[in-house]
Parts: sequence; structure tokens; C-alpha cells
Amino acid sequence: MEQTDIKSLTLEELRAELLKRGEKAFRADQLFQWMHEKLAEDISQMTNLPKAFREWLETEYEYVTLEIVEVQRSKLDGTCKYLFRLRDGHVIESVLMRYHHGNSVCISSQVGCRMGCRFCASTIGGLKRNLRPSEMLEQVYRIQRESGERVSNVVVMGTGEPLDNYDNLVRFLRLLSHEKGLHVSQRSITVSTCGIVPNIYKLAEEDLAITLALSLHATTQEKRRELMPVANRYELSEVLDACAAYFRKTGRRLTLEYSLVSGVNDSREDASALAALAGPLHAHVNLIPVNPVTERDFVEPGEKIIDNFKKNLEKCGINATLRREMGRDIDGACGQLRRKYLSD
Ligand code: SAH
Repeated sequence: MEQTDIKSLTLEELRAELLKRGEKAFRADQLFQWMHEKLAEDISQMTNLPKAFREWLETEYEYVTLEIVEVQRSKLDGTCKYLFRLRDGHVIESVLMRYHHGNSVCISSQVGCRMGCRFCASTIGGLKRNLRPSEMLEQVYRIQRESGERVSNVVVMGTGEPLDNYDNLVRFLRLLSHEKGLHVSQRSITVSTCGIVPNIYKLAEEDLAITLALSLHATTQEKRRELMPVANRYELSEVLDACAAYFRKTGRRLTLEYSLVSGVNDSREDASALAALAGPLHAHVNLIPVNPVTERDFVEPGEKIIDNFKKNLEKCGINATLRREMGRDIDGACGQLRRKYLSD
């Protein structure tokens, strides 16, 4: 029989599980604290639990942890990229970014991805499987333990489409922000999606104060479809309607992500069209000059063009941030550390 993954259980589920087995409910609270607040590496570290209880936990349950395969540290900005191995042998990557306002961890939500965005390295080998809540949490926990520094922000922007792994994602978000766990503020968590429309509406109903980021990348349905196959399933207008509904329901401002690709979406007209979409949504725009990916031939625009694009947005009253990828000296764009590992 498959063992229950205890790190993926909510506190209520954990209490019910232990009660059912004849244990006292307060043991669930202690166990939850060891897993999610003290970030215990294994059950044997949980020293205020009776030895017999710990041994029973070890035989009955699965305690998910990640094995570090490789860590790359940037000399430019202190960014660290981690390559982790899961129990079943798959590898995933996560990134620690150090900003003046605190440490941010970018996590993966799936092993691989099936969305097929043309400029993205993470989707090249397709989707292998969804990550469990415990496997998403452990990326944050492990990095906090390794670095010895508090993780204050989490972005779900690594490999995978979080809204394609919806139930596990929502469970992860609740556990990560739980007041008896690591208690990362929901306002400091961002989930980035390529635009799975029904799940944007669903997420709006979850009563979470997280930031939703939409990967827009193009301002017309035709152009978006060329870059992102998901646009064949959900039209741009439907995605924008869902985002507007998300803002109305949650009051949370959205972020629009826009990867600038030379000669594809970087003209003055593109900037005006982007401003016209962002304005009514009260959205903030994140501009990401496209990162070169070995298997792809997209090129980032020159400095002047990037600068003008940003200025054109600002002239229209749109808040825009230029997001240079951090740690450029360590395996380029997102998903590339994993890809390099798989092809070696
Ligand atoms: N599946 C989610 C999150 C993963 S990627 C999503 O689509 O939003 C996080 C962001 O990086 C997305 O906006 C994605 O489109 C962008 N991205 C992926 N590859 C990129 C590349 N080579 N250059 C620039 N941005 C890229």
C-alpha cells in the first residue's frame, strides 16, 4: 500500500489522521510545527515526540525531502540555482534570489511542462508529472535551511504551469502561508500562469491574498497564438476577462509578464497596445528581455529598444519593471540547469 505523504496534509487532516489511529490531537500540532515551522530534515529530529511515536511515524508515513544534486552560485548577484532530485529520480530546479527587500525563492510546480511556449526551455521534454504539495514546499524549506536565511517571498515561476496542477498548488499555498508553519505572507507569494481560464476563476474564489501574474507576451490573439499554444484553447479576450474578474473579486492587482522578443513584440505599437490592455486591469507590467535558450532562436531586443518600450508604457501611465534575469552567469534562462543535467 502507498504510504500517506504527511507533509502534504493540512493541520486538520493531520489531526483527523492521528485521532483515527488512537493518537492525541496535540501530537498533530507538534508534528505540523516540526515539519512546517522548524523544517525538520527527518522524523528523528523531532525530539519532543516520544521515541515509539516517531518510529511508528517512520514506518507508517512518507516524509518527503529533496536531495541536492547541484548548487550553482552567481558571482554577479548572489543568486543560487538548486538542482534537486525527487524520490522517483526526476530532477527539478529552484532559484534563490537575494534582493534588498529580502530573499525570494522561485519554485517549480511540475516536472517538465506541457504548455509548449515557443521561447521556453522548461517545456521542451514535455510534462513528466505534477509535483505534490510537499515537493513544492520542500524547495522553499530546503533552501531556507541550506542558506540559513529567511525566505520572505515565493514565486511560482519555475518549471511547470501551476494552474495545470491546481489542487496541489492551492494546498501548497495554504500550507506555506499557514500561521503555524513557515507563515510566508500571502501578499509575498506570486503565482504565474500562461492563462488557464477556468482555473483563474476558481483561484479567485479561494480567498487567497496572493498576486496573480499572467504571462501575456503578445497583445493580439494572432501573435499570442504564435508564441503560446495555450492560446488555441483560451482566446486572449477570455483570458483578459478572467483577469478582470480576478481583480474585481480579490482586489489584488495583477502583474502582466511580457517577454520582449526582437522584431516580434517590441514595437512602439506593441507598447501602446500593451498599455491599453494593462490600464483597465490596473496591472503592473514586468518586462523580461527574452533569455536565449540553446534550443530556440529568439533574440532579445537591443538596450535602446527595451528602454524605449518601457518609456512608452510609462508615458501611458503604466507601471513597468524591467526584470533582467538574475544569475546570468549560471546556466542562463529558466529551466536550463535541469535541461543541461538531462542531456549530459
Ligand atoms: N507556466 C507559468 C510559469 C512559468 S515561467 C507561466 O507561463 O507563467 C515564468 C515566466 O517566464 C513566464 O512568464 C514565461 O513565459 C517566462 N519565460 C519562459 N521562458 C522564457 C525565456 N526564455 N525568456 C523570457 N521569459 C521566459
